[in-house]
Amino acid sequence: MQYLTLNDGNKMPILGYGVYQVEPAEAQKCVEDAINVGYRLIDTAQAYQNEEGVGAAIKTAIAGGVKREELFITTKLWISDAGEEKALKAFDASMKKLGLDYLDLYLIHQPYGDIYGSWRAMKRLKDEGRIRSIGVSNFYADRVVDLCENSGVIPAVNQLECHPFFQREALKRVLDGYGIAFESWASFAEGQNDIFKNAVLTGIGEKYGKSAAQVILRWLIQRDIIVIPKSVKIERMRQNFDVFDFTLSPEDMAAIATLDTDKTLFFDHRDESKVKWLINWMK
Ligand code: NAP
Repeated sequence: MQYLTLNDGNKMPILGYGVYQVEPAEAQKCVEDAINVGYRLIDTAQAYQNEEGVGAAIKTAIAGGVKREELFITTKLWISDAGEEKALKAFDASMKKLGLDYLDLYLIHQPYGDIYGSWRAMKRLKDEGRIRSIGVSNFYADRVVDLCENSGVIPAVNQLECHPFFQREALKRVLDGYGIAFESWASFAEGQNDIFKNAVLTGIGEKYGKSAAQVILRWLIQRDIIVIPKSVKIERMRQNFDVFDFTLSPEDMAAIATLDTDKTLFFDHRDESKVKWLINWMK
C-alpha cells in the first residue's frame, strides 16, 4: 500500500473502500470482504446509515488479528448536526455505532449550516485524542479559503467529486497550496457515461493488461489523489485493489486529461435549488 502523509503528520492509505449506497444489511459482509482483500481505509458517513455494519466488520477483523492501528476509518458529520454541541453528540453517536474509541478521520460532509461550530468541536475532539485527523468534504475553493483563513485550522483532507469527466485540476492547486490532501468520491462517476467502456480508458488499459476501472484509479493515484472505490462484489474489490504494479506514462495522463468536461455529473454545490434540497434532506 502507498500512503500519503497528511498536513498533521498522520499517514493515510491512498486507496480505500467506500460504502455509500451499500445497504445497511450488506455493509458488514462487504467491509469484511474488503478488509480480507487488503483494504485498510474504510469510508462511511452518518448519512449512509451503515455505520453499525462497518463497526461489526471492524470488530470481526480485529478479532481475526487485524490491528486497530492498521485500519484507517473515516466517517462524516451530516448538516442536520452542524454546530458545536450537536457535532459533539453526533460524533459520540457515530463512534458508538462504529464501536471505536478513536476515529482516524472525521469530515464535515457538506459546507452548510454552522460549519464553524462543527469545526471547533472537531478541533476539540482532535486535541482530546478522540480523532486523529479532521477534514471537510464538498468544499469548493472559496469555502476552503474561507475556512482556512478564518479558523486558522487547515483541514487535513477535502473529499470531492473527481473522475475523468470532472478532473478539478484548478481546485487541486488550491488544496495543494494549503497542503490539504485531495480525496476523490465517485472516481468511476458511479458508472455514468459508460465510463467502464470509454475507448480512451480501455485503450490505455489494454497496454498494461488492466481494466478502465484500474486505469482510472491509477490516474488519480498518480495525481496524489486518495481513492475510495465502492463495489459490493469481491471480484471487483480485488480488481480495484490491484493498481500498484503499473505506471501510466505522461502520454496516458495527457490522453485522460482530454476527457475532462469541467462539469459535475452529480451535484453542483453552487446551484441554489440543489443546495436547498440538500439542506432539507434528512432533517
Ligand atoms: P464509484 O466508486 O464511482 O462507483 C461505484 C459503482 O461502480 C458501483 O455501481 C459499482 O457497482 C461499480 N464498480 C465498482 N468497481 C467496478 C469495476 N471494477 N468494474 C465495473 N464496475 C465497478 O461511486 P461512489 O460509491 O459514489 O463513490 C465512492 C465512495 O465515495 C462512496 O462509496 C463513498 O464512500 C464516497 N462518496 C462520498 C460523497 C461525499 O459527498 N463525500 C459522495 C458520494 C460518494 P457494484 O457495487 O455493483 O460492483
